[in-house]
Amino acid sequence: MNVAYTVKEVREQVKAWKKEGLSVGLVPTMGYLHEGHASLMKKAVEENDRVVASVFVNPTQFGPTEDLESYPRDFDKDCALCESIGVNLVFHPEPEEMYAPDFCTWVDMDVLSKTLCGKSRPIHFRGVCTVVSKLFNIVTPDRAYFGQKDAQQLAIIRRMVRDLNMDIEIVGCPIVREEDGLAKSSRNTYLNEEERAAALILSKAVFLGQKMVADGETDTAVIKKAMIEKVESEPLAKIDYVEIVDGLSMQPVDKIEGSILAAMAVYIGKTRLIDNFLIE
Ligand code: AMP
Repeated sequence: MNVAYTVKEVREQVKAWKKEGLSVGLVPTMGYLHEGHASLMKKAVEENDRVVASVFVNPTQFGPTEDLESYPRDFDKDCALCESIGVNLVFHPEPEEMYAPDFCTWVDMDVLSKTLCGKSRPIHFRGVCTVVSKLFNIVTPDRAYFGQKDAQQLAIIRRMVRDLNMDIEIVGCPIVREEDGLAKSSRNTYLNEEERAAALILSKAVFLGQKMVADGETDTAVIKKAMIEKVESEPLAKIDYVEIVDGLSMQPVDKIEGSILAAMAVYIGKTRLIDNFLIE
């Protein structure tokens, strides 16, 4: 496995692969990798001749009061995991490699990025769309892999690729959970013992909502109310949002029909966690 720190190194490597007619998969990450990331990388290794994983804590997707500085990092461990899975190249640029001092070009989106996480993180998806576009231009992958854990991000990337005619297949991968249900996240490391126990309320609310749908409930207001009450039963939890929206437009819906996303963001202490389920 190779590690590249510059755009030039990645371009040279990918060019050589393409000359041989090999397909290329890309898995964008912010590092501190866990089994959620591993599931994306495994799928990418299965479906492509060569796989690039990027490890880059992208500063432009963090708001001024968010956790850019404290975001967990362990690059050696990340590399060991990538290598064990069969990733061919890890791209680990410094922020200066990705953003020139006078950088001023952004990829942004209306509508989809204004709801759910976009309400409390107004510049987040602009940063995500911009860095993912840059990674797509640098790696020129055939396929790119994203987790359903970040459901709004996945919907936004799919829309960006469609709207801007990017010739890349976007592959969505299911949420990987801890044994007790908590969705795996690099940010789970922020939780102390008491908060870790309290964080289970997210997946409990997700499972409750899923069961209500499976049992035939179609009124989203009823499901949303039950999920909110579930989260509020945990004293350490503070809701940012619980919403049931159309899976493509991210706009609220009254009835469960078609593709639907039930998503939430909840603070456990200072840590903001997200979880969701999709109904197709
Ligand atoms: P991150 O490093 O948090 O930016 O995540 C990189 C990619 O891994 C994103 O596409 C995430 O949706 C995906 N991912 C993170 N956690 C999980 C998980 N628990 N299950 C599935 N995918 C995940």
